[in-house]
Amino acid sequence: MAGTHAILSPSAAYRWLVCTPSARFEEQIPEDESVYAAEGTLAHELAALLLSARAGLFKGPQKTFNAMLGKITASELYSPEMLEHCEAYVGFVLEKGGDVLIEHSYDLTKYIPLGYGTADATSLTPKVIHVTDFKYGAGVRVAATANKQMMCYGLGAYEAAVKKGLKPETVSLSIFQPRAGGPSSWDISVTDLLKWAEEEVSPKAKLAIAGMGDFIPGKHCQFCKARTSCKAYYDRFADVKTIKDKRVMTDADLVTVLTYGPLVASWVKKVEEDAVKRLEGNKPLEGFKLVAGRGKRSFKSEDDVVDILLGEGFENDIFDSSIKPLTAIEKMVGPKRFKELFADQVINVPGKPQIAPIDDDRPAIGASAADEYDDLI
Ligand code: SF4
Repeated sequence: MAGTHAILSPSAAYRWLVCTPSARFEEQIPEDESVYAAEGTLAHELAALLLSARAGLFKGPQKTFNAMLGKITASELYSPEMLEHCEAYVGFVLEKGGDVLIEHSYDLTKYIPLGYGTADATSLTPKVIHVTDFKYGAGVRVAATANKQMMCYGLGAYEAAVKKGLKPETVSLSIFQPRAGGPSSWDISVTDLLKWAEEEVSPKAKLAIAGMGDFIPGKHCQFCKARTSCKAYYDRFADVKTIKDKRVMTDADLVTVLTYGPLVASWVKKVEEDAVKRLEGNKPLEGFKLVAGRGKRSFKSEDDVVDILLGEGFENDIFDSSIKPLTAIEKMVGPKRFKELFADQVINVPGKPQIAPIDDDRPAIGASAADEYDDLI
């Protein structure tokens, strides 16, 4: 989903439904748009444009469509890979049939104060409402099952469908994430969705809009903007702080380090980044100052350096060359052509064994897989 967010946004519902004060707490912290977010925004624009044309909903002459498409494809963030993924998304949405609504903003105020949410695509059929969210991220795969953001969109779509005189029985929620494993879908009956809205969403949303309730840390803190100001999050590391005055680490201590270590590391990095921003904004922090990071030597003009080396008789060995990484080549030629060209060239090299919590959904590997990895490197 692209665009502005409600205070209690569906995309953060997984967080404010657990830690109700988080939404108001986060409000004070400005948003930084990363290049990945900008790429996602462009992909959403393209996906919506293509879907509107294929669904016969584009309002305007062909030249307007061409101009809009041209503007998107002229962006430096555009790639043939993006076009293919957007076309696949369009096909996925149209397969559902029914009337299509694109980037429709749903009123959620019946359950969430000041609540609204914009669903990328909704397909209304007599008995089933299909809501599809296009996610362009390649990092973290997001599953549709019991996904709170999707359930909020489903609620909005249901209420809108009822206003149109429809009587849907099921809401089918899909996340189309082409760069992280493809689509994921989950169905919920209207009865269960409304029960969830009344028993969980409404009471929690009332607390959340008022900034009330307990700060409850957990996995949902990972993308909370308030993470570096939140004392409850810091207190979550209490178990780590108890490892002291011992000569030997126990298994329980190791479990504590493995459980909290990655969280502490990413949190400290974020605290440092925020402290740098604070000092750059001339807000002092006692005991700390900004210094220049470690620099590196660099040539002012590579062309001049080449001329000098050639003048010195170094004709060979001036340049290094290597092929671009696999993902960059896939992006360059597009995933479909990539498969055609390199079906026999791509091999899967297993990743280095890494430790994961027991509830991680990847299967456990045995000693033989670890040996295989050692043989390969
Ligand atoms: S960091 Fe976690 S506990 Fe703190 S406000 Fe955010 S979601 Fe709540």
